[in-house]
Amino acid sequence: MINIILFLFASILAILGEAKMFAVNIFTAMKNIIKKDYPENYQSRISKCENCRIFFKPLKTCGTPFRFTKNTSTSGCWCFIPFKAAIKESTCWLDENHLKGGWNE
Ligand code: SF4
Repeated sequence: MINIILFLFASILAILGEAKMFAVNIFTAMKNIIKKDYPENYQSRISKCENCRIFFKPLKTCGTPFRFTKNTSTSGCWCFIPFKAAIKESTCWLDENHLKGGWNE
């Protein structure tokens, strides 16, 4: 019984941690966009994403949970690119996974 309680407690903490990180990222992106405080490579990031093989145009997201093809079933972080690119500390999903075509190429 104690294992189940510990598991549920750990799960709740993990969910709260993810929710907090999500809220912080949204707040940071909106603040940068409102202040027009974009990273130097903001336009380059946007351009690379728009030409990326996993970019999902209808939602402007990095990959998508709504389209399952050979390339996209588990690809991308599903982030909203105009927000993601506005955060200086953001990293490209392709770069993180050591694949070609990312922001740092
Ligand atoms: S993998 Fe990188 S380049 Fe492709 S959509 Fe995502 S963030 Fe943009």
